[in-house]
Amino acid sequence: MADLYLTNSLTGKKEKFEAINPPNVGMYTCGPTVYDYPTIGNWRTYTLSDILFRVLVYLGFHPKFYMNLTDVGHLTGDNVGDADTGEDRMEKAAKKEGKTAWDIAEFYIKDFVESFEKLNLTKPEKFTRATEFIKEQISLVERIQKKGFAYRIDDGIYFDVSAYEKAGFIYGDLSNLTEIKEGTRVEPNPDKRDSRDFALWKFSPTDANRQMEWDSPWGVGFPGWHIECSAMSMKFLGEQFDIHVGGKDLKSTHHPNEIAQSEAATGKHPFVKYWIHGAFLTVDGKRMGKSEGNAYTLHDIQNKGIDPLALRYFYFSSHYKSQINFTWEALKSAQASLNKLRDHVLAFKENRKRTILSEDKLDKTNALNAKFKIALADDLNMPQALAVVWEVVKSNIPDYDKYDLLKVFDDVLGLNLGKVERTVKVDKVVTELVNQREKLRKEGKFDQADDIRKKIFDLGFTIEDKADGPVVKRR
Ligand code: AMP
Ligand code: ZN
Repeated sequence: MADLYLTNSLTGKKEKFEAINPPNVGMYTCGPTVYDYPTIGNWRTYTLSDILFRVLVYLGFHPKFYMNLTDVGHLTGDNVGDADTGEDRMEKAAKKEGKTAWDIAEFYIKDFVESFEKLNLTKPEKFTRATEFIKEQISLVERIQKKGFAYRIDDGIYFDVSAYEKAGFIYGDLSNLTEIKEGTRVEPNPDKRDSRDFALWKFSPTDANRQMEWDSPWGVGFPGWHIECSAMSMKFLGEQFDIHVGGKDLKSTHHPNEIAQSEAATGKHPFVKYWIHGAFLTVDGKRMGKSEGNAYTLHDIQNKGIDPLALRYFYFSSHYKSQINFTWEALKSAQASLNKLRDHVLAFKENRKRTILSEDKLDKTNALNAKFKIALADDLNMPQALAVVWEVVKSNIPDYDKYDLLKVFDDVLGLNLGKVERTVKVDKVVTELVNQREKLRKEGKFDQADDIRKKIFDLGFTIEDKADGPVVKRR
């Protein structure tokens, strides 16, 4: 196993990763609430999790990875910073779409898994659905209650943060105070003992019917949003494990609450050794949101004829700790770079001839290989890793070795380099016509350029004019 450095939100520092039980690594990523299509912001976080998984494998670890699907208990109040109030997102979506909450879950889970594959994200051992593990969540709440860290009020069973602190635990060590304050800026439920307390189990309302509800020792109801992640991650990975991943918004409420619940129940610290948080994606320099009309999904990307893997390539242009700004222009340019890269890889493949490497070329190959690994091991520095990819393309090592290197790099990049067939093999006549047309267009002779387009069409090809030149496709 090679050394790996990661920024751990628990300390705010880049630390050497030391697995609890090497080479095994337990890893859990907070998944989607399945009431709508995930946005390209959500996909950025899942891609971070995928890269981390692939890098662990690349560096010789044996990661075991789980991701949850929240199909109950995530209330709309979380939009304004209070996860215990408002309607259940699933039930709200069901009403809006005229379906049952179960149908909503089925529909969006199917879509999620399909999109997951399109982005070439490594599937977890299991996508754990909250509603499949209600028993485990109830037992965990019971354990917390037995230890004296829970109390009952009218609408549910709540976690008692001040009792937890009095017992010597630290609440919120992932966040700084301002983040916690922001998380609780709405009017707190007046029955709560402390505004930071949060629901472990909510009772079904007496004046309305819920579609998803279960019996419990405390009465009919449903789990609080945070408890599922503690219950399911501990069920599959043990009471202490290595890595937990999510977007940075989860640092202020969801993750501190997961830590509090888990450590309160088990008495073991730390619940998770490394907390990895991805920065957000913005669109055109602004916050992405449904109300802003810019909460793009993978379907929006595909509807514009863009390959989902171009989105993956686009994500790599920024370090996971830095905000990334999405624009359609930037995505198109990622697509162009990816196309170019694939064409290079295919050309290297076609030109493959086994040659004996001279010593300096062997050194160079090894150095490039090492440089790529160093970039990954240095806190998943994908922009740097991509730079090494292009360095390989432009280097003077033989095509045979370029191809081999890039194919191995693709185990981490997941861009299907080398797997994709060249879009078209354009013969010389067509290439000549395309060049003539380009020249005419540059000279402003559009009518003549159009005549040539027709000739090219008759030869069986179409031309699309992209920012970095014409793309020729077989029609
Ligand atoms: P949600 O379905 O809202 O619980 O979010 C699923 C995951 O996506 C969580 O890890 C969030 O932190 C993350 N996430 C939400 N919005 C963004 C965004 N704009 N950029 C990056 N990650 C996000
Ligand atoms: Zn979670």
